[in-house]
Amino acid sequence: MSEFNTLGLAAPVLEALTKVGYETPSPIQAATIPVLLEGQDLIGQAQTGTGKTAAFALPMLSTIDLKANVRTEGISALILTPTRELAIQVAEACQKYAHFLPNFHVLPIYGGQGYDHQLRQLRRGVHVVVGTPGRVMDHIRRGTLNLSRLQMLVLDEADEMLRMGFIDDVEWILSRTPEERQIALFSATMPPPIRKVAQRYLNNPQEIKIKAKTETATTISQRYWQVSGLHKLDALTRILEVEEFDAVIIFVRTKTMTTELSERLNARGYDCEALNGDIPQNLRERTIEKLKAKKIDFVVATDVAARGLDVPRISHVVNYDIPQDIESYVHRIGRTGRAGNTGEAILFVSNRERHLLRAIEKHTRQKITSMQLPSTDAVNEQRRSRFKARITETLDGKDLDLFEQVVSEYQEEFETDPARIAAALAYLVQGETPLFIKDQPRRARREHDDFKGKSERQGKNFEREPRRKKQRPDSKARPLKDDSGVEMKRFQVQVGYDHEVTPRHIVGAIANEANLDSRYIGQIEIHDDFTTVDLPANLSPEAMKDLQKAWVCGRRLAIHVYGEAAPAAKADGRPPKKKYGNSKKAKNFKKNKSKQAAGDQPLKRQRKRKPKLD
Ligand code: ADP
Ligand code: MG
Repeated sequence: MSEFNTLGLAAPVLEALTKVGYETPSPIQAATIPVLLEGQDLIGQAQTGTGKTAAFALPMLSTIDLKANVRTEGISALILTPTRELAIQVAEACQKYAHFLPNFHVLPIYGGQGYDHQLRQLRRGVHVVVGTPGRVMDHIRRGTLNLSRLQMLVLDEADEMLRMGFIDDVEWILSRTPEERQIALFSATMPPPIRKVAQRYLNNPQEIKIKAKTETATTISQRYWQVSGLHKLDALTRILEVEEFDAVIIFVRTKTMTTELSERLNARGYDCEALNGDIPQNLRERTIEKLKAKKIDFVVATDVAARGLDVPRISHVVNYDIPQDIESYVHRIGRTGRAGNTGEAILFVSNRERHLLRAIEKHTRQKITSMQLPSTDAVNEQRRSRFKARITETLDGKDLDLFEQVVSEYQEEFETDPARIAAALAYLVQGETPLFIKDQPRRARREHDDFKGKSERQGKNFEREPRRKKQRPDSKARPLKDDSGVEMKRFQVQVGYDHEVTPRHIVGAIANEANLDSRYIGQIEIHDDFTTVDLPANLSPEAMKDLQKAWVCGRRLAIHVYGEAAPAAKADGRPPKKKYGNSKKAKNFKKNKSKQAAGDQPLKRQRKRKPKLD
């Protein structure tokens, strides 16, 4: 086994490692650190949770020139990450590893945060910037991020950046870095577009690949429950009654569902918070802090909001709604079994989702075993022993003299058996909630199917085989087809560049709110104050309604067929926005529209999503 101190890291960095308590380098760290210290370019491939952050951060901090005048000469290192959560997390890790480096400054920069703070920090001078591609581009364009002395560039989770449509942005940034910089590219997988970027920008890179199934995967045990008989919420609480957990993250498909399920769990006595992309960043961070500090044990999250989340005490991942694709599954379960801990992953699978289960097993080459729900008896046995444990705790830990006196008085006065008195008090403690659960008669089942959420409708919003191609004759939309021959139609949503929207926002909102698999989301064109997106022509009315209500970047989507009038604003407390007046934007809009009609492509940014399953 290798040691950190044989790898050539700087003394203050080694000291910090002792402080954070890492004993031995992980395989990816042992392999990459010497290469990066030598200044070579590198392609590193390893699963999530294998310690890639330290693999690049430790050599970076060991070679960084702290005497350089970063205020006037620009930053020394740039790390690009796909999401702001990751940017923050990686920046925090750098800060930790740099604990003994005097005057070291690292700054996360990401969209959605005001520029003021970022500009102030940049002006004061920072050594390392960790940022999302969009915001980094903005700063380069504004001249507020100086890369002229850049020594090292890291692309973290490159495949994720590709998946989110950032690859052009990444290339744009790469092409603006000085020639003599070192590049480290980290990715869990190596799809061809990433390879191409590597070939184009990396200089004779060393390739290091750590085989899967070494670190995390085997420490996560995976089970599934075939949804039947009980509603998923009842199944979940039943599992939680007998499972030994520390913290649990529960994944659902939509943002609405995160808050709905979280409220329901709270109502059942589980301290829970929702985590989704609509919740302001500072609130999200607070929720994660609470989870870390054991103030809450449950978080209900969407994929986007939980990506890269690193909270070692997460013992269980529950896939309440099955993920959209295999990569999401791998990312989700990677939230547990961190840093050598073991983890449990539980997946709820309905009958018509069974093929997804098989696909996941096939791709991950791991068996997901079937689980039975704990029986009524098992749950009640647990409840019985927990109740007894509460009595013992109270007897051991509380001053009971006063109560003992009152109870003795009662016993003498009414000549009652002490066990009866204790039973009456227990009844008072338990309140309305029955101590034991009853076997549930099957016909009572519908009463529990009271979710207004979308999980029940899932799959119905869009049928793969259109029954009849409905093309409204007055529609100005051109008939389109996507790769798989699905009839597509162009829609318009009322957010655009002016609102800092990215394709990722649009895809996320539509996939979440319309419960639509992102592979059915076609070309996206972002304009100044609106965006067009190609969607299946036979999108259901419910899906349309959900989309009309959805908000992105502080704006109502107000989706409608491209070229038709936008739906009237609902009473949402905001004045209806003045639409295309005689402003510059209006002229642009008209210009774009007429170009479009002429079959011209005035596209500012294009994005074609490929099918992800299989
Ligand atoms: P990845 O980027 O590969 O998904 P991270 O860099 O987020 O993985 O690391 C996963 C977890 O492992 C983090 O909690 C990190 O602090 C911890 N970790 C990293 N390296 C080591 C090590 N050598 N020893 C112990 N824990 C480590
Ligand atoms: Mg990582």
